[in-house]
Amino acid sequence: MALPAIDTVVTFPVGELIASATVVHVAPFGEGLAVIADRTSIHPVDRAWPDQPADPGVLRVDGREVAIRDALVAATDGTELHIGDIPVRPGTDGWTFVVAHVVDGDAEVAEGDEIELEADGEARRALSIGHTACHAAALALNRALAGRWSKAAREDALGSPDFDGIAIATSRIHAMGSVDRYRLNKSLRRAGFDATGLGDELDALAASVDATLAEWVAADARVRVERVGEHLSDRRTWVCELPEGSARIPCGGTHAGSLGELGAVHVAFELGDDAGTPVLTMTTTAQPGAA
Ligand SMILES: [Zn+2]
Repeated sequence: MALPAIDTVVTFPVGELIASATVVHVAPFGEGLAVIADRTSIHPVDRAWPDQPADPGVLRVDGREVAIRDALVAATDGTELHIGDIPVRPGTDGWTFVVAHVVDGDAEVAEGDEIELEADGEARRALSIGHTACHAAALALNRALAGRWSKAAREDALGSPDFDGIAIATSRIHAMGSVDRYRLNKSLRRAGFDATGLGDELDALAASVDATLAEWVAADARVRVERVGEHLSDRRTWVCELPEGSARIPCGGTHAGSLGELGAVHVAFELGDDAGTPVLTMTTTAQPGAA
């Protein structure tokens, strides 16, 4: 079965909460419906890298308001719509990536309807602060661990070996913070990272990361999301104008406008074990308004 040509302009990367749109496709999804529109302000979760959760929000149609139960990245090659679990990588030729807004099955919404989508502003702000804190903490962690590298490794935008980019296993953004898990496996050690004694130095590591973060927050470094196009799969980059230079991290999420919005930022570390592989967990917490 051929689908109509569908595509979605996304406005959440520039911080928008409300979008006026036209429904371009409605498909059954579980017990509910997946609504695809030509435009959306709702950030969807990407199941391939589920770092930032979906925005809670509402869909308005014909004066009625319908809760958005979930928002997922979906993709189509023109024949079938894959919602959530997508067989190809973003940017694959011939595939279009869109946002599927999941609503209850009895929501009366149909192709061609004019709708308004609105993301919950408070939840978005808390996730944006959490996501910005996550990236800033990753860069501060790279700097704090730089002395543990004995070989030249890929560098981050500030010139430190990119521990975060090389060792990250999972990253989860939540309101006002994040949890990042790093695998300290054999290939990381072969690449030149020495984890000896790390377990005894976790408090010192946290103090070092916190000190860097405090400097950057005090500088109120500007943050923006750069993008090469307005569609969901167009490459987007988090850019932060730190005192040391312009930091860049590929990122599909939403962000604060500057590090000053984060208030006080603190990290805590735990060293665990996953089937014999040491795993370093960094928990990052922002307290807007606190100094
Ligand atoms: Zn990100």
